[in-house]
Amino acid sequence: MSQSKICVYPWSHVNINPNGDVWPCCHQRGDQMRVYGNFKEDDIDTIFNSESARELRRSMLQGVLPRDTCIKCIEYEKIGIKSARLWANLQPWAKEIIDNIPNTTKDDGTVENYKIKFWDLRWSNLCNMKCVMCSPDWSSLWVQEIKNKLENFDDKTIEKENMLRAYKQHIKHDTLKIRHLPNKQFIDNHINDVEHIYFAGGEPLIMDEHWYILNKLTELKRFNVKIKYNTNMLKLDYKRQNAIDLWKNWDYLKLSVEGSIDETGKRAEWIRTGTVWETVEKNIKQVRDTGIQTFSNTSVGCYNVIRLPELIDELYELYYSPTNKKAQVNLNPVHNHWCSIQVLPDALKRDILEKTKSWESKTKSKTNKIEAIYHELQKPHDPDKLKMFWKRSSWLDLNKDSTLFDHIPEFAELNDQTGNQYEKFRDDWIEKSLSKRISSTNSNLCSSVSY
Ligand code: SF4
Repeated sequence: MSQSKICVYPWSHVNINPNGDVWPCCHQRGDQMRVYGNFKEDDIDTIFNSESARELRRSMLQGVLPRDTCIKCIEYEKIGIKSARLWANLQPWAKEIIDNIPNTTKDDGTVENYKIKFWDLRWSNLCNMKCVMCSPDWSSLWVQEIKNKLENFDDKTIEKENMLRAYKQHIKHDTLKIRHLPNKQFIDNHINDVEHIYFAGGEPLIMDEHWYILNKLTELKRFNVKIKYNTNMLKLDYKRQNAIDLWKNWDYLKLSVEGSIDETGKRAEWIRTGTVWETVEKNIKQVRDTGIQTFSNTSVGCYNVIRLPELIDELYELYYSPTNKKAQVNLNPVHNHWCSIQVLPDALKRDILEKTKSWESKTKSKTNKIEAIYHELQKPHDPDKLKMFWKRSSWLDLNKDSTLFDHIPEFAELNDQTGNQYEKFRDDWIEKSLSKRISSTNSNLCSSVSY
């Protein structure tokens, strides 16, 4: 067996998605994602040795990383970047599994006596926020938001308007999401083997199954299991338990609470709708001061890149403390076309780039992947994306008490400079709507329309 193209994930990992689909990992890319099976239809032990899983293993055993699944790792390795595969193969539990492949794996790719060491759990879209860059796939509140908004339009308008038609199609699939696991057998059967868990969602801290696992690990005193969260930090308690009481059993480096925090104050409340900044800020401080490792995972799009240096300094100051010395702000560019950095005009992007580079040479704030943001800032402006930004933002603001401009005033100026497209789209939405049921408040622009 050639080990050169082995990735330990197909022998030791599952990535479970909100619709129940089980993938080899979250790094796969391609038009046709490899799905081992569906958690709603089969148990994990059947899925782990499904034809799709066996075929992936067979390919790796023959020295081939399949391009349809592993293209991202292939490309990264070609240009010398550490791929997810290389990272996974270096994990402490990986060597034994890889060395044992000849003993555990049959010619057809079936693996016997496997141990699922790394669980990537995103098994529900249950969420208490509807962030602007998100979608019904990942947030149950988004499903509700779309249902409510579509009620403002008749079927003919929805059919004619691409954006509304696409939303209508999208929420049809909501019934496919797993709100709760059909049973907890997977957890009970594999809890003694797990070494690493990644909780995401949806919002993991409002999911029953998350608490079940955390309590189970605590009962078993398995505080050596590495845990990582992606959470919006709005809620730390659930059914009379507080996460901090359990988290503090883990060593600082074994557990990391990564907050999806893209802005502070009122700005955060528009970007991640549902945010109560006072609560989020209090929760971050509480976790930080308890000595639990915590970071900010900041998605950077057109709505927050405009004040990137100030934002990073504010977040770093919030996260850093003598009990959280490893604090840093992880930066990830948003790629959704309507809110990516490319929405902004070139002159504005150039100013931001210059300002951020000069700030970077002086700041004490620690960041990760700022180069990725510089890269995005150098991409050319796309007028269609800007148009979509105004269109979607005006739609999101319908029936709300405040608008984008109340939260992020810089956009009022941009709107003036780019032909007041926000109002044009807003008026168009109102025109197309079933009147008396839709409204838009826009105090900063001195016009208020309500029916
Ligand atoms: S090689 Fe990369 S894409 Fe393929 S299974 Fe491993 S981590 Fe995932």
